[in-house]
Amino acid sequence: MVKRALRAMAFAIVFLGEFGPWDPGSLAADGGVLAVASIVPLGGFCRELGGPHVEVEILIPPGASPHVFEPRPSVIFKASSADVLVYVGGGLDRWAHRIVRNVLKREGLVVRAIDGLELLPLPGHIRGERDGEFSVNPHVWLDPVLAMEICRRISKAFEDADPLHAEDYRRFLERYLGKLHRLHEEIARRTRRFRLRRYVAFHSSFSYFARRYQLEEVEVIEPLAGREPTARRLAKILSVMKERDVRVVFAEVQLNPRAAQIIAREAGARLVRVDPLGGRPPYGEDYIEMMRHNLDEMESAMK
Ligand SMILES: [Zn+2]
Repeated sequence: MVKRALRAMAFAIVFLGEFGPWDPGSLAADGGVLAVASIVPLGGFCRELGGPHVEVEILIPPGASPHVFEPRPSVIFKASSADVLVYVGGGLDRWAHRIVRNVLKREGLVVRAIDGLELLPLPGHIRGERDGEFSVNPHVWLDPVLAMEICRRISKAFEDADPLHAEDYRRFLERYLGKLHRLHEEIARRTRRFRLRRYVAFHSSFSYFARRYQLEEVEVIEPLAGREPTARRLAKILSVMKERDVRVVFAEVQLNPRAAQIIAREAGARLVRVDPLGGRPPYGEDYIEMMRHNLDEMESAMK
C-alpha cells in the first residue's frame, strides 16, 4: 500500500506539475490490482470480473450525474493511482479522459467503454472532436450485449495487469458473460410483449437499449443533460407526442423530473422512472439487478 501511495503521489506530481513521463514500474506490486471506474455500472463490472484480486474504486458518487460532475483533486489523485482505469468516453466523463491523457501513460491499462462499439450520435449534437473526445451518445452500458463487449475488455486489462491470476479472470468473465446473456434474453422476451413501444426520453440514456430491443425514442426532453427545455421545446414535444401517439415519458432518478412530469401530465402519458446509473437501493451496484428494475418499470407502463 505504501508503494501505491508513492506511485499516486508521483502521478499527481506529473499531473499537476507537468514533469513529463513517469514509468509506473511493475504493476500490482503490492499484491492486488486497483481498478478505478468513473461510474457505478463500470465499477460493478470490475467487481464481478476481478473477484478477490481486484480492489475497486468508483469516482462518481451514487446520485450524481456524470454529465455535470467535476472531480476534485482527491478524485484525480485516486484515479491516477489506478492499475486499470475504466471510463465511458464519448464526452460523458470528459474529465476521466483528461486524467488518462495527462496521467496514465501506459498502454492497455485504460478501458474506454465506447471503443470498438457501433455508436449512435447524440441528438441535438454535431458530431465533432473536443478535448480528444467525440460527441457521441455515450450510454453504451445500458445495452447488455454491448456490456458484454465492455466486460471482455475489462477482463483483458485485469489479465495484463495481473497475469498470475489470468485463469481466475477468465473464469469470472465466463460466469458473468453467462449472466449478462441471460439478462439479455429476458429483456428481449419481455420487451417483445410491450404494446407501447414509443417513448419520450428524458435524456438519451436508453437509446442503445431502445436500438437493441426495438423500442423507439421519439423525442428527448433534455438533449444536454441538466439543461432545462424551453417552453417552445415543450410545446414541440407535446405536438410530436400527439401526432405519433406517444403515451410514455421516461424520467430519470438522478435528474430533476419536473419537465418530464409536466409533459406526461399535459399529454396524458404515463411516467416511467428509469435509472441509468445505479448505486441506489435495492439494487446498489449490481448492474443486472438495476436493469431488471428498469425493465419492471418499463413493463408496468408499456406492456
Ligand atoms: Zn447520460
